[in-house]
Amino acid sequence: RDRFSVGDVQISPDHYIGGKRVSSPETFETRSPMDWDLLLGNISRGDAKTADLALQAATDAFPAWAALSPKERGAYLHRLADLIEENKDAIAYAECMDMAMLLESLQLRLVPRGALNFRNYADLAIEHEERVWDSKGTHNRVIRMPAGPAVIITPWNAPFMLSTWKCAPALAAGNTVVLKPAEWSPLSASLLADMADKAGFPPGVFNVVQGYGAEVGNALVSDPRAKRISFTGSVPTARVIGKAAAENVVPFTAELGGKSCLLVFADADIDAAAKKAAGQFDDSGQVCMAGTRIIVEESIAEEFERRFHEYTDKHAMGDSRDKATTMSAMIHPIHIARVEGFVDRARANGDTIVRGGKRHIDGKLWYEPTLIKPKSNQSEVVQSEVFGPVLTFQTFKTEEEGVALANSTVYGLSGIVYTGSRERAERVGRMVRGGTVWVNTFLVRDLTAPFGGIGLSGLGREGGHYALEFHSDLKTLQILEG
Ligand code: ADP
Repeated sequence: RDRFSVGDVQISPDHYIGGKRVSSPETFETRSPMDWDLLLGNISRGDAKTADLALQAATDAFPAWAALSPKERGAYLHRLADLIEENKDAIAYAECMDMAMLLESLQLRLVPRGALNFRNYADLAIEHEERVWDSKGTHNRVIRMPAGPAVIITPWNAPFMLSTWKCAPALAAGNTVVLKPAEWSPLSASLLADMADKAGFPPGVFNVVQGYGAEVGNALVSDPRAKRISFTGSVPTARVIGKAAAENVVPFTAELGGKSCLLVFADADIDAAAKKAAGQFDDSGQVCMAGTRIIVEESIAEEFERRFHEYTDKHAMGDSRDKATTMSAMIHPIHIARVEGFVDRARANGDTIVRGGKRHIDGKLWYEPTLIKPKSNQSEVVQSEVFGPVLTFQTFKTEEEGVALANSTVYGLSGIVYTGSRERAERVGRMVRGGTVWVNTFLVRDLTAPFGGIGLSGLGREGGHYALEFHSDLKTLQILEG
């Protein structure tokens, strides 16, 4: 199929398998959330046959890729990182049009972090030393062995960053990769395939297949040739993938949703906390780590709320390409309808909609920043992930009560705490349930630190050597000396 253009960026609508572009007879549409009438392209819709081709290519390419030294593999990863840096603006533009993330934040933060993922792993794999020891006349080693083809399934929010975050450790560890991006934001993965091709990865080492989760996605994760599955997405899908992984006894990681707290103590810098709370509306709240439950000590609640509204008033809804915009369109009509459903049910439940609670312009995909004071902690809008610009507001009297509220959902991805006390930072930081807890800050995450969730927020950790461990099998080799 011909490439199509998004702005000046040329994009292949096809899969990338075994070093070649492969098309499927069927296609699916990708549209721009900023203008739903704008059809960006018709993308090849993969099926079981596509999954079979891709996994066979990844299986065939595996032995030679696994046999390279970490340093040799690292050279490919560095070349790919160079190409990402060179093509930063094109990737950012395509992703911005595809899923409406702010162009500037893609250019300045998310795409460069994508390059950094490959650089970090290029060097981390090299640094890894196997363990060696002698005992009772034997020479012992722990050897890290590449596991095989890895299937990587990514969600529609932050697709480029998340694809690189997951593919880099797999490739560095010596695994081959089949990446399936989400059907709502397929473009940047196609660009990544172009760059991998240009970086000279041997055919079959890095493959991209496009299509629906229930079709090609399901075929990929159910196939015994997939030796690792790394998934980011929703809980229901994690359950389906988990069953497929169990069937084949294949390790999988799942990074799922969250309902993280933004817990503010009276001793905190109230202004900084209120500003950060209003910042949870960035990317229209389509961020798994967002601190969507604001929980504030009662004595400062009024002042906090006043400042929160002042900062929220500063949000500008508009086109993601415009530098002044801070909140853009939501990904898809189905998704904004889901968000509306949460707010409508909250209203019907007797929760108080303090601000927002409606689309910015009828029929379009912008949703107003919304604050809800729930009738009770059991309200659906407190307990369920909305994945939109919808925050809840609750208060507490004692530290114990605040922490109990913070820990009262089935999730545990992250948490944000604001306090002026170092002791409290240490104490509460340990008590708040989450794979990552930020105190007096948010999102400043070292890419080599472990990341993942507790409870229904997921299984396993990625990042740094934790992901390299996931992507390899360990062998203890013991040789009797003499
Ligand atoms: P979200 O709610 O964020 O869209 P999903 O879990 O539906 O989350 O989707 C995340 C990713 O999982 C997407 O790439 C989607 O295509 C994929 N997916 C959905 N269902 C399956 C499945 N049964 N098997 C494999 N992948 C799937």
